[in-house]
Amino acid sequence: MNSRKKPIVIVGSGFAGINSAFTLKKLNPTIPILVIDSQSKFIFKPLLYEVLSREIKEWEVAAEFKEIFANSGITFLRNKLRSINLEKESLELENNLTLNYQYLVLSTGSINNNYLIPGVDKYCYFFNTLNDLNNLQIALQESLDSGNVQDLSIVGAGPSGVELACKLYDLYSKKLNITLIESSKQVLNKCKFFNREEAEKAIKDRNISLLLNTIVDEIHENHILLKDSQHKKNEFKHDLVIWTAGIKPNLPTFEQEIETNNQKIVTNQKLQIESYENVFVIGDISSIRDMENLPSTAQNAMQQGVHVGINLDLLLKGKDLIDYQFRDNGEMISLGKGKASISGLGLTLSGSLAFEIRRLVYASKMPIVQNSLKSVASWLINKNNIFREN
Ligand SMILES: Cc1cc2nc3c(=O)[nH]c(=O)nc-3n(C[C@H](O)[C@H](O)[C@H](O)COP(=O)(O)OP(=O)(O)OC[C@H]3O[C@@H](n4cnc5c(N)ncnc54)[C@H](O)[C@@H]3O)c2cc1C
Repeated sequence: MNSRKKPIVIVGSGFAGINSAFTLKKLNPTIPILVIDSQSKFIFKPLLYEVLSREIKEWEVAAEFKEIFANSGITFLRNKLRSINLEKESLELENNLTLNYQYLVLSTGSINNNYLIPGVDKYCYFFNTLNDLNNLQIALQESLDSGNVQDLSIVGAGPSGVELACKLYDLYSKKLNITLIESSKQVLNKCKFFNREEAEKAIKDRNISLLLNTIVDEIHENHILLKDSQHKKNEFKHDLVIWTAGIKPNLPTFEQEIETNNQKIVTNQKLQIESYENVFVIGDISSIRDMENLPSTAQNAMQQGVHVGINLDLLLKGKDLIDYQFRDNGEMISLGKGKASISGLGLTLSGSLAFEIRRLVYASKMPIVQNSLKSVASWLINKNNIFREN
């Protein structure tokens, strides 16, 4: 194949991939860009909690890729990447499709991590995709329909565990006994001090039980085997368990050996794989050499996406590439229905105003303008109802 005709291929159209595609297209409108994703919709994961609590609707967090890329000049292909041959600059896709690239951007995100703990995959519900959300909703409904108060355990008191615990308490306080189980000595261990304090208050106010310094050894159908800091084991009864204890990078398969760090693909500071400089790796699957571990967040993924769009344009124009630098724009955590906590850029704020600011900030980050406008409009119309419930 003539190399000039090979497209720039972006695999994984989440926060990182979408931003790289649109940034490059804006800077270099005539360049052919092909975006590949195994799913049909972009999911705005930070707002999945509000879909669960019915504060917003599913369409507000899930936008069809064909709509996102319509009239953009970017081609979208729904297909799943099977393997990459870096030497041949080719991708093996499902349905025996092989594709050559000129430049490649990899941004395939994260998947749930069970840490090989027995019973996690079999007995736990997850909260990483729209599918996970739907499965959890069905299981919760079945559980609540039993009529008895149900013991719900949430393993992992990072942002996902804390946000879920508070939302579920506000929805079903009379029907669920909620326990958060965390291996470290505090909730939101890696988060900002202000948000941690607000989360601790929110958990206490809601009477959510908290087991800190507690390790999950095994999960069984109706109980969890726990180990405390003195290695004392005990059985903890549950009716339902949600696993939010960790994610791991969703790495594609490579024909060649590549360097990894904590299961993430190592890149140089320009976000390229060092021995294959026409390949960029961004978002949750990338680890930059000689840089402290960056968070697996939408914020970092979006910034890296924009950065790769700029670097690809520079590369195509024969100019020097620039090093990536992460700008910490703060952190927003939802803490129950209509409540949130924000810490960053000199602002610390909690309560319902923080919730509204969080909602508006996220609406402005939606990939299609119509969706974001419709979403804000629908939120404003429903706002009164949201705060009246409970
Ligand atoms: C419930 C939840 C709440 C969160 N809240 C926040 C928050 O408040 N703030 C924040 O900054 N971050 C938050 N995050 C983290 C954030 O969503 C991720 O860090 C971000 O999505 C990573 O972006 P990405 O582009 O690397 O991957 P993703 O956005 O996950 O995109 C990966 C894409 O790759 C596609 N893909 C995967 N494998 C293949 C394949 N083999 N072939 C083709 N396509 C493939 C997937 O379908 C997906 O579209 C949250 C995450 C979750 C789960």
